[in-house]
Amino acid sequence: MAKKEEKSKNEQLQKRLFLDKKSSWSEYSEKQKAEAFAFSDKYKDFMGKSKTERVCVENIVSMLNKNGFKDIAGMKSVKVGDKIYKNVSGKCIIAALVGKDNNRWQLIGSHVDSPRLDLKPIPLYEDAGVALMKTHYYGGIKKYHWVNTPLSLHGVIHTKSGKIVNINIGDNVNDPKFVIPDLLPHLARNQMERKAPNVVEGEDLNILVGSIPVDDKKIKEQIKFTILNYLYEKYGIIEEDFFTAELELVPSTMPIDVGFDRSMIGAYGQDDKICVFTSLMALLDVKNPKHTAVGFFVDKEEIGSVGDTGAASFVLQNFADDYLNLTGLKIIKSALFERSNSISADVTAGLDPNYKDVHDARNAPVLGFGISVEKYGGGGGKYSTHDASAEYMNYVRQILDKNKIAWQTGELGKIDIGGGGTIGMYLSRYGMNCVDAGPAVFGMHSPCEISSKIDVYTSYLFYRAFLQE
Ligand code: MN
Ligand code: MN
Repeated sequence: MAKKEEKSKNEQLQKRLFLDKKSSWSEYSEKQKAEAFAFSDKYKDFMGKSKTERVCVENIVSMLNKNGFKDIAGMKSVKVGDKIYKNVSGKCIIAALVGKDNNRWQLIGSHVDSPRLDLKPIPLYEDAGVALMKTHYYGGIKKYHWVNTPLSLHGVIHTKSGKIVNINIGDNVNDPKFVIPDLLPHLARNQMERKAPNVVEGEDLNILVGSIPVDDKKIKEQIKFTILNYLYEKYGIIEEDFFTAELELVPSTMPIDVGFDRSMIGAYGQDDKICVFTSLMALLDVKNPKHTAVGFFVDKEEIGSVGDTGAASFVLQNFADDYLNLTGLKIIKSALFERSNSISADVTAGLDPNYKDVHDARNAPVLGFGISVEKYGGGGGKYSTHDASAEYMNYVRQILDKNKIAWQTGELGKIDIGGGGTIGMYLSRYGMNCVDAGPAVFGMHSPCEISSKIDVYTSYLFYRAFLQE
């Protein structure tokens, strides 16, 4: 008997001492799991209509407007409780709910762009009885993912005559789609010898767009002619207008449930619209926050946070100027930044059972084990990351524990095997606290990324609790 008691004491001690990694599905009640499923349905709906950064920002704006947020353009002042946003060129949004103690921000940053194929400035040509368009891929993709899969065309064209034409072809069931046909296996002996980055070459990512020639012997490129004529009659555009366009090809498939138990979601662009949606919902649901709750939805992360709508630009500084002017706060911008806390909300790589050798299994986030809070990302030697402080990690842990939110920690892959950046390093350089936190996914940057519904839900819960602080 005594021996048994002793064991039970050690078991108790073990429970206190050991880090307990377990599935969030077994930590949450039936009611909470039902909430996770219902929340995920709203998320899938958002994802299906937010495939590109432009439409994603449009949808964010419409949700902000419905929830009482107002564009700061033309505003003279704001007070505690006001809900505001700034739209930067239709590709980046900063929204804020002014808190009681408004000289500090609680900011969550996520990115609205995802890897895709963009049309080149002179895309259209005909060859071998078909018309095609040339693309230039955007972000880090495995090029062979993008062949033999139905693609939709989204974007905007500014015509020479001054018209703005919005394009959205392929997402509806009856829409035509665009496809890049891969080489048949019968003739692929040489192709199969190539290394994976060259199995499909960048210059071979050409989409099929038509095949009917005009019946006129005097015209040299008869199929190209019918395509340009179709585009002119339907949209009023000429070939030169592709030069003043932004047209993006994204997978046509809509978000799906994955698994017999429907516990997972398959969708294009979950990196990082999973964090866009969950942090946006958190911002809409937060009530009377202590400090000013800020949602920063930023573009261009996938190509290094560059450009005037990327996190490496001054968009956030510019918004801070606006904020200080509108609130009339008597502090300098650097003081605001240095007092503020931020979350770099982005996805991480889940421990993949098919590729376990790329992870340190002891330090890899597991799909379905809750939001993953990661001290650093980057690559071997902690390059290209921000490495959050122990003090800030503990601040975040207290929020997680206080609100009973399922969470885990880890890092992205084994040392020296690769790596990945986030906007975290651009947030932390303002002098504000920052840590990466987001759900783990499988198949990141593929046309069908996989997430867990419970991780989507715990991310939302954490972001909401963080903004409430
Ligand atoms: Mn990302
Ligand atoms: Mn990414």
